[in-house]
Amino acid sequence: MRYKTQIPFSVPSLGREELRAVAQVLESRWITTGPRTKAFEQKFARYLGAENAVAVNSCTAGLHLALVAYGIGAGDEVITTPYTFAATGEVILHAGAVPVFTDIEPAGFNIDPEKIEQAITPRTKAIIPVHFAGEPCRMDKIVEIALRHNLIIIEDAAHALGARYRDKMIGSFTHASAFSFYATKNLTTGEGGMVTTNDSEIADRIRMLSLHGLSHDAWNRYSALGKWYYEITELGFKYNMSDIQAALGLVQLERFDEMQKKRKELAQLYYQLLIENDHIILPPRPVDSVHAWHLFVIRLKGISKTLNRNFIIRDLNKQGIGTSVHFIPLHIHPFYQNNFGYEMGDFPMAETTFESVISLPLYPDMTETDVLEVVNALQSSIYKNEKTDLKHKVGYAEEIY
Ligand SMILES: *Cc1c(COP(=O)(O)O)cnc(C)c1O
Repeated sequence: MRYKTQIPFSVPSLGREELRAVAQVLESRWITTGPRTKAFEQKFARYLGAENAVAVNSCTAGLHLALVAYGIGAGDEVITTPYTFAATGEVILHAGAVPVFTDIEPAGFNIDPEKIEQAITPRTKAIIPVHFAGEPCRMDKIVEIALRHNLIIIEDAAHALGARYRDKMIGSFTHASAFSFYATKNLTTGEGGMVTTNDSEIADRIRMLSLHGLSHDAWNRYSALGKWYYEITELGFKYNMSDIQAALGLVQLERFDEMQKKRKELAQLYYQLLIENDHIILPPRPVDSVHAWHLFVIRLKGISKTLNRNFIIRDLNKQGIGTSVHFIPLHIHPFYQNNFGYEMGDFPMAETTFESVISLPLYPDMTETDVLEVVNALQSSIYKNEKTDLKHKVGYAEEIY
């Protein structure tokens, strides 16, 4: 049977303005890092109320540079959550440090501050909190722990552009934060990222490291040599943003509040329509913070007894509804098990949460009717699941591992 509904999991919101901006940058013939990148950085910093913003070619690159700029490397430990994307663990290792995972909160998706405290050793240098789905972590606790133990906080804010913790924008009040402009994120430049920091020296260092560690300062000292002169002062990377990406970013930033308003309205509609469903736990809505609604992640109740998450995802797909799973905890992946001795059972909250989650479609170009279609399809899949003897436990385990 074919269904007429086709609702993809994620679609970037791109209009005529973005098309025109890219056409203009191509016509200008200045297509790599230049005036548009500079303008994007300035407007982005102003939007958040951060002192500095440095544009890079991904959030992954931004996290990596922030770690390197703060001198985090060999012999150091960095505490983070296993409930995240590959990038968060990977950059710690690329910096030469060791990722130390700690479990998420019992009733949520974010890192548990109490467990951070327990994982601190004399080698701990930094904490990378991840604001899952756009819900701010408990930053009061995390900042307090960091101050007490003299640790650097580098936020993985890939989901959190537009999020606010109490009265402060995420990205405006810790050592550094990295944002993602990947195709599925709330603001997109195709690929791209931004690091914000209130420390101007760190910002300069990140900027220099993002372009091969080249310094043009010498040119100022020896101006007679001309503009072509530079010195390689440090081992750098090739992580800069292009003006083509920045041109997109400038338009997306203009439209950002309007796009966020739409995400919030759609999330509220999901809430209204699903609040009475006994099979579903809705995502946490912080009372003292603003959620960025990058993702709308539901959890199924009674996953091992009656509900089979993978059946429901497959059935939704048959009905034309795209979904995803955020995230397979890092410590379950072979790389982390083989190299760091992590095992199933190490982080029970992350594991049980992973087994029960489904991310539903949520993006500004969705209509209210689309949300209704998703909810109807979901309810029908849950109903079918309940009517089917799935021998779920065995089938479930085989499917994943
Ligand atoms: C998308 C994502 C990243 C990486 O972003 P890129 O811009 O693709 O490098 C990092 N962390 C989290 C939690 C993400 O979802």
